[in-house]
Amino acid sequence: MVNGVHIQEIKCKIILGKCGFPGGGLSINPYVGCAHDCRYCYARFMKRFTGHTDRWGSFVDVRLNAAEVLEKQLKSAKYAGQRIYIGTVTDPYQAVEKEYEITKQILNVLVQHDNPVSILTKSDLVVRDIGLLRQLKDVDVNITINTLDEQWKEVVEPGSPSIQARLDAIQKLTESGITVNAMIGPYWPVFTDAPALLAKLKQLGVAEIFTESFNTTGSNWTGVEIAMRKRYPGALKQMKEILFDQQRFHEFYAKVEQEMKVLSRQFDLPVHIHFGRGHAGKIAS
Ligand code: SF4
Repeated sequence: MVNGVHIQEIKCKIILGKCGFPGGGLSINPYVGCAHDCRYCYARFMKRFTGHTDRWGSFVDVRLNAAEVLEKQLKSAKYAGQRIYIGTVTDPYQAVEKEYEITKQILNVLVQHDNPVSILTKSDLVVRDIGLLRQLKDVDVNITINTLDEQWKEVVEPGSPSIQARLDAIQKLTESGITVNAMIGPYWPVFTDAPALLAKLKQLGVAEIFTESFNTTGSNWTGVEIAMRKRYPGALKQMKEILFDQQRFHEFYAKVEQEMKVLSRQFDLPVHIHFGRGHAGKIAS
């Protein structure tokens, strides 16, 4: 147990899987579970497949033999040239990576192959591997940053590195010649300040922005609501009024979309907008 997170060492049979992203590709998840403990985590559905009964965010399984298995899998010609996304349902640079270095071992295998690589993370630990990233033929690092408000970050992403640490990491990566994209997801009513965020990200050399609306389906909302009750009762009311009313949901995100398009032109920064149509769910009772 480290900082209230139960760490378990496991062996895996396969590490390279099919990626569910619209563009296809392959995924690698060095860990099962994620101690970043984001209250809105889209990956908690994984519990259905892993057999864990404890709370999502409270456990991490370390796939000790991931690099060895990857090396074997990559011998198959069917994987040649396909983009590999590292960290689709876990953060590959969460704290446990400092000790186990499973992601680093994986990169050491990937530098011997030509597959394009995309890394998805909220952690500044990624800068540790700049030397390896520079050896990859085609790589981008995608850092999620959906607010500049550190207090809000603490409420909804309590186990993750600070916003400032992420901004510093972006700067170090871009100064080293690594392509960095920023994921503004979810785009929060009240707490996401698009003009300030885009100005900052442009200044740090981010190549492209991806943004998505809050998905109210499943249990994504419940954790956010519980976390907000004490600290942000006023904002909670405001957020519920927007997210759980079809019309207000669409009006809000349509307005943000227009604003993002203007900012994209202003900062000469490509913005990919994925605002759900019809995601406004039933209000949680
Ligand atoms: S970093 Fe990603 S996988 Fe980890 S808890 Fe947050 S949303 Fe989930």
